[in-house]
Amino acid sequence: MTSPVIVWFRQDFRQADNAALTAAVKTGAPIFCVHILDEAVKQDAARWWLGRALDLFDADLRQAGGALHVFRGPAIRVLPALVAATSARAVFWNRRYDPDGRETDTRLKALLKEGGTSVQSFPGALLHEPWTIRTRAGQPYHVFGAYWRAACQAGHERPPLPAPVKIAFATSDRSGLPPMIEAGAIGREMSATGWTDGLADMWQPDEASAQETLAQFLDGSLDDYARDRDFPARPATSGLSPFLRWGHITPAQVRQAAAAQPASGGLAKFMAELGWREFAWSVLFAQPDLASRNLRPEFDAMPWRKDPDAVRAWQRGRTGYPLVDAGMRQLWRTGWMHNRVRMVVASFLVKHLLIDWREGERWFAHTLVDYDPASNGMNWQWVAGTGVEAAPFFRMMNPLIQSRKFDPSGAYIREWVPELARLPDAQIHTPWLAGGVSGYPAPIVVHEAARERALSAWRALRGTA
Ligand code: FAD
Repeated sequence: MTSPVIVWFRQDFRQADNAALTAAVKTGAPIFCVHILDEAVKQDAARWWLGRALDLFDADLRQAGGALHVFRGPAIRVLPALVAATSARAVFWNRRYDPDGRETDTRLKALLKEGGTSVQSFPGALLHEPWTIRTRAGQPYHVFGAYWRAACQAGHERPPLPAPVKIAFATSDRSGLPPMIEAGAIGREMSATGWTDGLADMWQPDEASAQETLAQFLDGSLDDYARDRDFPARPATSGLSPFLRWGHITPAQVRQAAAAQPASGGLAKFMAELGWREFAWSVLFAQPDLASRNLRPEFDAMPWRKDPDAVRAWQRGRTGYPLVDAGMRQLWRTGWMHNRVRMVVASFLVKHLLIDWREGERWFAHTLVDYDPASNGMNWQWVAGTGVEAAPFFRMMNPLIQSRKFDPSGAYIREWVPELARLPDAQIHTPWLAGGVSGYPAPIVVHEAARERALSAWRALRGTA
């Protein structure tokens, strides 16, 4: 084949606002589109998403006259082999910001450049590169409010790029290439495990669905976003998180479309939520072990409990607390959970059950389709009180108050915990007070006792018991 430019797609499965693809097309060289499945994505739900995304992105590229070539193996070995086999003149990619990805990319860049291949990387999935928003002293921000003010004032806003009008694809002469795998293969491997069936009913991981999801949200819910976003039974939030995670859409595209709407409290609040995502990546950039180390080291001595039965009950939505169980079942069935409920279930695990937040972080990583190490790590540490700008540990969310306040009629609980569907509104939050419901467990902890246990562990940690 004529010496092509390789575009290495990683988590940027889109044609519009794809800086690496646009720049590659501008070179005039034929484009060879690849993905390398280097086993880095180990989490089940994320692997399911990736499998479907590869399949659907391949279909999109085929419609445009090309294809996505998928290879298996460590990128550090496969990419140089691809460059050699195709005599590629250059490799282009959009940056990723997780610690492992960054390390691999740095090594590959050096390796390929050493071999005489030009490598160009482009801004990835954020509004601001994670090292750019800094305090006057050049330090990363620890407080979201200050971070977001600085980010909003930074001004280097880049308008999203249109999709290339025409892509000249490299013809795929397979001789000499490492063995390819079919784009849909991983998706089918995951379907064989059974539990991902619910994900397939819920999600279509492609660029068109991302744009449709955004358009629906802007048409319907943005105005009321600030008022309704904490009520899990209301369709008030965008549902964009997995599309952003996998790069079917970019925050720049979302920002531009949202900014074209009339100004409202909903708009400012929604933009600030995108800001939390940016903040999380900037925290991870500065603290690469965000998902595994207490950012407040005093919590290293916290006497977390080991209780596999309680963890299992939490994972499967059988704690006896209806809102917690509804959330955990929504997660298991759909790979997604409403943000308010994520906070409630996380607080319940860490404080009511006194289980190390890392146990919960791992379960979310395994089951969320929007899992990313920045947002997940930062939010778990926020809830646990162990992170930067975290809610203090002693502030425990009461699952009953949360339930009555944010799901007053029990509509969300009824949807995900059908055993309770027939209870009247007044009893749905406390089925045990109605004498219990057949098939639904009694609470695995009593709120007041659990609260006292958590607080005395925390006081002991501070030496104030
Ligand atoms: P919307 O309300 O429509 O918000 C728009 C976008 O802003 C979201 O798509 C998301 O990209 C971003 N966003 C919103 N809230 C947050 C937040 N608190 N932190 C970071 N970004 C935010 N989000 C993830 O994308 N991946 C995760 O792995 C993840 N793990 C979480 C773990 C816990 C314990 C908690 C409490 C929250 C977690 N979140 C995570 C944040 C949040 O719950 C989801 O981003 C949100 O529920 C996604 O739904 P949405 O797209 O409808 O959000």
